Amino acid sequence: MSAYDETCIFCKIAAGEFDTEFVATSENVVAFNDIAPVAPVHILIVPKEHVVSANDLGPEHGNLWQQILEVAQHAAQTAGVADSGYRLVTNAGAGAGQEVMHLHVHLLGGGPLGGIVTTKNKG
Ligand code: AMP
Ligand code: ZN
Repeated sequence: MSAYDETCIFCKIAAGEFDTEFVATSENVVAFNDIAPVAPVHILIVPKEHVVSANDLGPEHGNLWQQILEVAQHAAQTAGVADSGYRLVTNAGAGAGQEVMHLHVHLLGGGPLGGIVTTKNKG
């Protein structure tokens, strides 16, 4: 599979170009710590293939979403939040706050997370 975008930071990280320490990995997915954590545990789960967002996942990607979930579960276990609880979030598109245009799921945990942010309660 593996579509690679040479301008994409997450393609480079997933390919191991920066010697990033992975919290969890599988054949097609990696997980690593967010560079600017917003919770005590803040891990990004990223497919190795360049897919822009959840909105771009289709049948051609097979069970990639399931594979992402399995790595998230493994990362949660490794980070020690599987039992205490965690949140999985993915931003699809700039209007949702997506800044890195390579599909990723945020795994947040390790402390109180507050409510889900919406246009009614943010800021
Ligand atoms: P989003 O706003 O959903 O696109 O989230 C992008 C996330 O990627 C942010 O939480 C950033 O802190 C994180 N991020 C950006 N560059 C890196 C990097 N080089 N290593 C780890 N995390 C990064
Ligand atoms: Zn990419």
